Amino acid sequence: MSAPDWDALLAADRRHVWHPYGPMPGLAAPLPVVAAQGVRLTLADGRELIDAMSSWWSVIHGHRHPEIVAAVEAQLHTLPHVMFGGLTHEPAITLAQRLVAMAPDGLEHVFFADSGSVSVEVALKMAIQVAAGRGEPGRTRVLALRGAYHGDTFGAMSVTDPVSGMHAMFAGALPAQVFVDAPPMSTEGPADPAWVALVERELSAHADELAAVIIEPTLQGAGGMRPYAPAYVVALRELCDRHGLLLIADEIATGFGRTGPLFATGGAGVTPDILCVGKALTGGTMTLAATLCTPAVAESIAASPSGALMHGPTFMANPLACAAALASTALLERGDWRDDVPRIERGLTDGLDGARVLPGVADVRVVGAIGVIQLDHAVDVPAASAAAAAHGVWLRPFRDLIYTMPPYVTGDDDLARITAAMTLAAAAA
Ligand SMILES: *Cc1c(COP(=O)(O)O)cnc(C)c1O
Repeated sequence: MSAPDWDALLAADRRHVWHPYGPMPGLAAPLPVVAAQGVRLTLADGRELIDAMSSWWSVIHGHRHPEIVAAVEAQLHTLPHVMFGGLTHEPAITLAQRLVAMAPDGLEHVFFADSGSVSVEVALKMAIQVAAGRGEPGRTRVLALRGAYHGDTFGAMSVTDPVSGMHAMFAGALPAQVFVDAPPMSTEGPADPAWVALVERELSAHADELAAVIIEPTLQGAGGMRPYAPAYVVALRELCDRHGLLLIADEIATGFGRTGPLFATGGAGVTPDILCVGKALTGGTMTLAATLCTPAVAESIAASPSGALMHGPTFMANPLACAAALASTALLERGDWRDDVPRIERGLTDGLDGARVLPGVADVRVVGAIGVIQLDHAVDVPAASAAAAAHGVWLRPFRDLIYTMPPYVTGDDDLARITAAMTLAAAAA
């Protein structure tokens, strides 16, 4: 095999291939990646970069973990794919049992979706169908938090922050949801009664229209990397119960140990009615997400006019993805992450402390295996990424945030390199 001509490939990339939130033709040239192993990406020019983003928060066990590779390879040689309508298979059944066992008590049923955004669409459909099943078909709206991010499909966009999200661009095409301010930034302590009262007022004002409340429990991710104390999740659970609303927990970012507990809801002692998981579910091997719900939710959907949950993707419960997820969740069950996440939290806290005094730095915060440097201005993304790459680290800042969500297997030396690169990026941005 002759070496690929990267100049020609990158020219074709620019001409033909969309990148996330990108223009066409593309502006900045993306870095060509030819391989990945553990926490490292290998670029076409032979350089290696630590993947401090876990490839958008998914590769928690590192790239090409041998047990995940073996599981996918074995599945590839037996049943790579089969339709899920009218048929079933062992990887899906075992994975559903595993997720039910891992999730907060009371979530018994699993809908497999092909991406995080789709799992949010399914959650929204569930909530609307539950209302219909309870004889309240007028309840179709959802209360969401400002600063939220729930995905890029239409339903998910509609519950994402109306300003930083894409509401203005798609005005008139999105369902109109109800928004309240997110809780004040915090990691512990009681819920602010003034905030709880504010939410209660909105719930009362829209009592006949609302079906559910949707949150990213304890940490708003792509909307701004803002933590809030578990007491707010408890308070929202109580509010939902009092107002007859479902609580939807989008744990696509927070799930599988990223913030400390296995699930942020479970860590708060709360069972949501509906739970979305994705991102790290397959250890970043391929796309898979799931929407879990309680028996009460399933019963109300059964009582709705259709009598069934009205969703069913072509690649639902793809066996290769289920095999990857089984291997990834087996690694989590073995439990090394319980030591690794607090170890990474300490490493990030120590390593980022020096960035606090840099000019232009507004805040430094660490929650579980998440480290954030917030600037007082928008990040110069090309300059910041280049500074980090020159130090051997892949970072992809956004807005005013330079952050890392490293793989749980990141060693202490690599972690120190990541925090040093973030500090250099902050100085360059
Ligand atoms: C990434 C993310 C999504 C969307 O998941 P995709 O797989 O990108 O569709 C939804 N919610 C949260 C909290 C996320 O972090």
